[in-house]
Amino acid sequence: MSDRRLPEVAVVGGGITGLAAAHRLLELGREREASPQVKLFDAAQRLGGVIGTMNRDGFLMEEGPDSLITEKPWALQLIERLGMGDRIVGTQDEHRRSFIVKKGRLYPTPEGFHLMAPARLWPLVTTPLMSPLGKLRVGLDLVLPRRRGDSDETLGQFVKRRLGREAFEAMAQPMISAIYGGDPMRLSLLATFPRFRDLERRHGSIVRAMWLAARKSAAAGQAGGSASGARYGMFASLGGGLQELTDELARRLPASCARTGVSIKSVLRTRGGRWTVTWDGGKSDFDGVIIALPAPRAAEVLRSLDDDMARRLSFVRYGTSATVGVAYRQEDVEHHLDGFGFVVPAREGLTMLGCTFAHRKYAGRVPDGYVMLRAFHGDRSDPLSDDDLVDATRRDLTRLLGIRGEPVLTHVTRYHESLPQYGLGHLDLIDDIDQRMTGYSGLVLAGNAYRGIGVPDCVRSGENAAAAIMDAVAS
Ligand SMILES: Cc1cc2nc3c(=O)[nH]c(=O)nc-3n(C[C@H](O)[C@H](O)[C@H](O)COP(=O)(O)OP(=O)(O)OC[C@H]3O[C@@H](n4cnc5c(N)ncnc54)[C@H](O)[C@@H]3O)c2cc1C
Repeated sequence: MSDRRLPEVAVVGGGITGLAAAHRLLELGREREASPQVKLFDAAQRLGGVIGTMNRDGFLMEEGPDSLITEKPWALQLIERLGMGDRIVGTQDEHRRSFIVKKGRLYPTPEGFHLMAPARLWPLVTTPLMSPLGKLRVGLDLVLPRRRGDSDETLGQFVKRRLGREAFEAMAQPMISAIYGGDPMRLSLLATFPRFRDLERRHGSIVRAMWLAARKSAAAGQAGGSASGARYGMFASLGGGLQELTDELARRLPASCARTGVSIKSVLRTRGGRWTVTWDGGKSDFDGVIIALPAPRAAEVLRSLDDDMARRLSFVRYGTSATVGVAYRQEDVEHHLDGFGFVVPAREGLTMLGCTFAHRKYAGRVPDGYVMLRAFHGDRSDPLSDDDLVDATRRDLTRLLGIRGEPVLTHVTRYHESLPQYGLGHLDLIDDIDQRMTGYSGLVLAGNAYRGIGVPDCVRSGENAAAAIMDAVAS
């Protein structure tokens, strides 16, 4: 046996990014027969970050993320490697449709309308969600010239330019806001949905491109498709909710690896080229450090090391969000709730951005005879107390869904600065940050601030960070 000192690595942040990073460090250590000593720090008392599943009296509600998009395989692959493949559940696709609110009523989203553009024209022609003129304007997309140049634009500018203001306000805006919790007029097209720019470039028209893509995926589906998407549908979760994943990752950490309730204050380089991680009342040196924090927190931790870097990190703006779960007896809800939920255009003036019919999306989440509605709120929730937020949610739901009785359960979860809003020029900003980071061997940034906000993106980011650190400490 060699008497070589084992590399010591700190992971700062124990959300899914930090947990995936720590797990991958240990996995790579075993593969390379050079297991690092890993310490994971989290300011909160519980690991998992924004991932959390409430489980009370037979009601199971996701407080944060509720679904993994299967097109991005990294989280599902991790789940399989953890031996939890049999826990993966797909959505109940017999209820797979959604609604959009117009003047206080729910209308089905036109079939084939994907995020911000339609793959089929007929459902759009017949929808009451848009005026005849608005629909004609969408059709103009087929003949409008494509945009020249590579410069970024906002998602809002893109949709308005291709499909018109009405398609944006009635459909694209609420769908995008329900994902990002933010305003599409401030979100970068290239950092969020670069595929749409690519489609415009290749096909000239978004509608034509969407139509061709739908035909292709229908043909692939008929041919049996082999991706995880074909196995589980578009979205997947775990039988007991997504917290099963973070709990399992936490459980696999060696004893005394994780330190909760420890807020890291700074990371500084030592004279010998190692890294000093400092918290209130303590510090320790490491060969490598992964900073798996939301950008504003990463900026604070790195300020003493590199003020310019901290400034750049603080340019990544984060929004506030909240989820409010409300369960009712089925007979107290007039609406059939035959879908996964609805989204609310900003012009409706409601507090919520959207609502998931959680009991329909995944099976086994409520006792028989009950329904579980989960409202998603953005910045408008910020000034409201929890009680006021529940009241506003119940008021909106009562009006939209015809609710008669009292809820049997309510559950509020708030997230301050937890969902990044990739603004114009985000990718250039991140390239710049990456470039500056090359000067800091053994220090790596990971998380939702950089190249994707979803759980699968975070898993990939954490695992890539682990591989980079293993290479750095080996050399
Ligand atoms: C309401 C909501 C719904 C979402 N829905 C979906 C969805 O359906 N599907 C999907 O794919 N994604 C969804 N997302 C996005 C996704 O969940 C997040 O981007 C992802 O979970 C972020 O993980 P993370 O580990 O990077 O950050 P976080 O989960 O924010 O974890 C960061 C951790 O760092 C800790 N920390 C902070 N400061 C310090 C410090 N100084 N020292 C030590 N520790 C510190 C915190 O306590 C926290 O545990 C949703 C997000 C939210 C908020």
